[in-house]
Formats: sequence, C-alpha cells, structure tokens
Amino acid sequence: MRGVLVRLGGAWTEILRRRAANSATGSYPLPVQNMLGEMVAAATLMQSNIKFNGSLILQVLGDGPVKLAVVEVQADFGLRATATVTGDVPLEASLSQMINVSNQGKCAITLDPQTRFPGQQPYQGVVPLVGDAREKLEKFSDVLEHYMLQSEQLDTTLVLAADDKVATGLLIQRLPLEGVGNLAGSRVSLANEDEIGSNEHYKRIALLASTLKREELLTLDADTILRRLFWEEKLLRFAPLAGDSAPHFSCTCSRERVSRMILGLGADEAQSIISERGEIEVGCDFCGAHYRFDPIDVARLFRVPGDLPPSSETVQ
Ligand SMILES: [Zn+2]
Repeated sequence: MRGVLVRLGGAWTEILRRRAANSATGSYPLPVQNMLGEMVAAATLMQSNIKFNGSLILQVLGDGPVKLAVVEVQADFGLRATATVTGDVPLEASLSQMINVSNQGKCAITLDPQTRFPGQQPYQGVVPLVGDAREKLEKFSDVLEHYMLQSEQLDTTLVLAADDKVATGLLIQRLPLEGVGNLAGSRVSLANEDEIGSNEHYKRIALLASTLKREELLTLDADTILRRLFWEEKLLRFAPLAGDSAPHFSCTCSRERVSRMILGLGADEAQSIISERGEIEVGCDFCGAHYRFDPIDVARLFRVPGDLPPSSETVQ
C-alpha cells in the first residue's frame, strides 16, 4: 500500500489571493473555492503518485454555472488553478449543481510530457461525473477514484478537503503485486486484476482512511492524522517535500507565449483588434498578469516572425 498526504497552505492561498485581486472576476463563490481546492489537492496527489515528467492537468468541463475548472501541476510541483464561473452559485450548492446539472459534465486528466516526440499528443483520460448506475457523483474524490480504477487498474481511496486557508488530501493506493512499484519485491504471480476490490489489507487501510473527517483533514497535522488512522499499522514514513521541492504557486504564462498566440490569430485578425481597441490586451486567468501589445508591438510581431519583443511590459 502506498499513501500520500498533501497539505497546501501558501500555494493555495496564493491562488485565492490572485483571484480576489482580479477586478474582472472577484473572489470565488464559497462552494467553487472549496471544489477547486479539492481539485488542487487531488492533482498534487496524483502528480506525486505517478511522478510524471511533465504537467498533469486536471479539468472539469461543467454544464452548470461552473463551465471550467483547471488545475495544472508541473513535475517540480509548481502549480496553478482557475475556474470559470458564468452563473449564480448558491452558498449550499452541491457538486452536481455547480458542474453537472444535466449529466453532461466531464472530468479530464491530461498528461503532457515535458519533451514531446514530433507528432506526439498528450495522453488524456476522460470520466463522466456520474457513477455506474448513472447517479450524479457528489464528491470529487468519487470521480477520481473511478478514473484511477479505469486508468491504472489499481484500487485507490481519496479523501479531499479545502477551505480558504488549506487545500488538503490523502491518497491510498494498493500497489501492484508485481513490477517496479512493488516495495515488497514479492514474486507472487497472482494477476493484479484478480485483486481489485478484494484485497483484505487494502480494504482495511481504505476503510481506516475513509473515516477521516473533513474537519480533521483541514485542521490536523500529518503526524496526528497518521497516528489517529494507522496506529496499528506498520508505517514506513518518507521525508516530506520541503523548500524548493515543495508544492508552490507558479504560472507558466509569458509574453512570449502570448506573442505566439497573437501570431496564431493571423495579421488580419490582430490588425482588426488594433483598429477597434487601439491595443491587444491579454489577461492570464491563472495569475492575473496582463500582457499589452500596442500597434508597434503587433507590427513588429508580424514583420519578423519569431523575433519577439522584450518581455519587460508585464503588469502583475
Ligand atoms: Zn499567468
């Protein structure tokens, strides 16, 4: 069994602070804040679990007032997140009332490698926001447990919680009996599939993990949580990530990327925005940065393709 516990403070509150400072959007409604926080914790847990050399992108494509929620976690645990809210979200809104009103909502997990071979597409897995009996799922952890079972063929238990200070979660996964991930080095030849949902040790640990309450997860430190849940189990504890290697807020937007996007619009389209508004302004939903391109910037962009203007005009 492998477990990962994540507890994000500063990385999470930085996301909320930037959102609150964005005059175009203002702060998230409370239920959206808590859902996005759970997604941030979950994406961090998943990146930590698979150690993917690239970015892990967790997305919800909603059919309710929340149209989109996105979390990106890089290999170095630099992370960013945003949500697009287009309608009213009542204070008591459930998950499905926010993102799955008519069962058209989806959750997508994308693994985008750091370096791609020519023509290589990022891997993407998509799961619906309903269960096997088409019932609406009301816990984000249930959505992801489905995904993990489908994609990795491994039983996974997730407990997630978030408020305006902490985004936190616990992941428990049964390791395959054979293969690189097997810490015990066992040579048991039992097919892994036979064990899904039936491994007694996993069931015991998962049951213990699922007794963890939202309030406990939000308020207790890792030592206390581990002691409370698993005091009868033999635990091998790894040192927590600290300093530069700990999860932190980081946005991958840049003036160069926005320049490429404007080039992608084509000269005619870019020129028509310039004549209409006098400049092209692009805001980053993740960090709130504004990139402004005046007529001279735009002309320069299209005159010499690839020759990009200096990046000193970013306004945070
Ligand atoms: Zn940004």
